[in-house]
Amino acid sequence: MQLPPPSSNASSRVVIVGAGPAGMATALELAQKGVASTVLEKRGEVAQRAPLFAVIPPFADRLAALDADGALTKHLVPMAKMETDDLTTGRHGERTFDTPLAPDATRSRGDMAALLSAAGSPGKPGADTRRWSTVGIGDLENAMRGLAKAKYSDLIDLRYDTPVTSVRQGEGWAEALLAPAAGAAPGAGGAADAVRGAMLIDASGRNLLGSTRTVYPEQSHWAGAKFGPPPDGYTGTQRVSAADTPTGLVESAGDPQHLTLRLPSDDRRIVWTQVDTPAVGDDAAAARELVAARAKLVGIDEPLPDDAAVMPVTVQLSTTDNPADRRILAVGDSVRSPYFMTSTGAAAALVHDTPRAVDAVTAVLGGADPAAVSADYAAAVRQANEGLLALTRPRVLGDLGINRADAGPPTTVSAEPR
Ligand SMILES: Cc1cc2nc3c(=O)[nH]c(=O)nc-3n(C[C@H](O)[C@H](O)[C@H](O)COP(=O)(O)OP(=O)(O)OC[C@H]3O[C@@H](n4cnc5c(N)ncnc54)[C@H](O)[C@@H]3O)c2cc1C
Repeated sequence: MQLPPPSSNASSRVVIVGAGPAGMATALELAQKGVASTVLEKRGEVAQRAPLFAVIPPFADRLAALDADGALTKHLVPMAKMETDDLTTGRHGERTFDTPLAPDATRSRGDMAALLSAAGSPGKPGADTRRWSTVGIGDLENAMRGLAKAKYSDLIDLRYDTPVTSVRQGEGWAEALLAPAAGAAPGAGGAADAVRGAMLIDASGRNLLGSTRTVYPEQSHWAGAKFGPPPDGYTGTQRVSAADTPTGLVESAGDPQHLTLRLPSDDRRIVWTQVDTPAVGDDAAAARELVAARAKLVGIDEPLPDDAAVMPVTVQLSTTDNPADRRILAVGDSVRSPYFMTSTGAAAALVHDTPRAVDAVTAVLGGADPAAVSADYAAAVRQANEGLLALTRPRVLGDLGINRADAGPPTTVSAEPR
């Protein structure tokens, strides 16, 4: 591919690709430190994602730190109760929360141990047993974007409908190359546009650095759908496995192993159910029927609303082997694929990656050697990924009914972006 000449808008600005949770957290924390950024988002201004996140306490700590006035934490809906696996005893149990949410802006920054302590077994000595909450992912993204606009419009330049095709760097700069604007004459201006800064953060959820990845063989398929608000205002989670299924309620032929989970907030309930092949495919009507039938298992008796599309999710664990290279640092889903059942994806991005990336950026802007700083950042991310895998992979295997001894080895795959 013919690269365009370097653009002339270099500065001490940081270029951030993606206005998801990781990109926005990076931009907000940099702004708190007076560092300007340009955030390039390929989609439109309003985030549309409906699913709910379970917010573990360290994730809430970081949301509190990103805005002292509570612009982010006000969206958290306290959980009443949750069904959970105790990974120490192996027993399935229930946790009831009766304490208030207690996000603490002074805790958890860059602290992977804090995340693992909260997301792991509540029975472990020293576990963080503070109350969990839920938040709509789209609501959180929109709140972060709104905060950037309201408080930091001088420091955060948010550009929507701006897809980045690739990234590159040179002496003193890093750059995102943009897709040509829709309707532009071929070759107009010579080449695609570019945005240049002193550092670049890949928060696209892809792998723009083009590193090899380590991929684990198990695939976990899910179908989800959004129901209306809980009629009784109850915001507990509920989880059932096929083993608990009353005979005849759900057709389980060809899909003997499945879990169904209900995650409610005050304005919606999301049901996720495990399926044996990628959901929806050719038969959306069958997928709707299956989700509606499985929803009964977790106490939802009404039909799936007509306008509720079935959301297909396939999870396959992977980690990015080299998450940083000099002036380009990757964060969030760009450095690992999350298993959403452990509620650690966005949490790891906000608790671990983005504060450490902010520290790396400020070190380089302060004159530190980018090669040394990025090597340290990459080592921290690899260590964080090891901790997350130790927590997550046994859970994936358990949910799929695979014995640990039978789990296949990971493979290394080349640089294709996810
Ligand atoms: C069903 C489901 C439930 C989940 N539940 C939880 C949970 O309970 N708790 C939790 O902590 N995590 C959860 N996760 C994980 C969480 O969604 C991710 O870890 C988190 O969204 C990662 O944030 P990110 O900003 O790195 O990436 P993303 O959320 O993927 O954001 C990337 C952004 O970059 C933009 N973008 C992508 N490519 C480009 C490009 N080329 N140019 C410009 N912009 C681009 C995208 O449009 C997007 O806005 C869940 C995930 C799923 C799928």
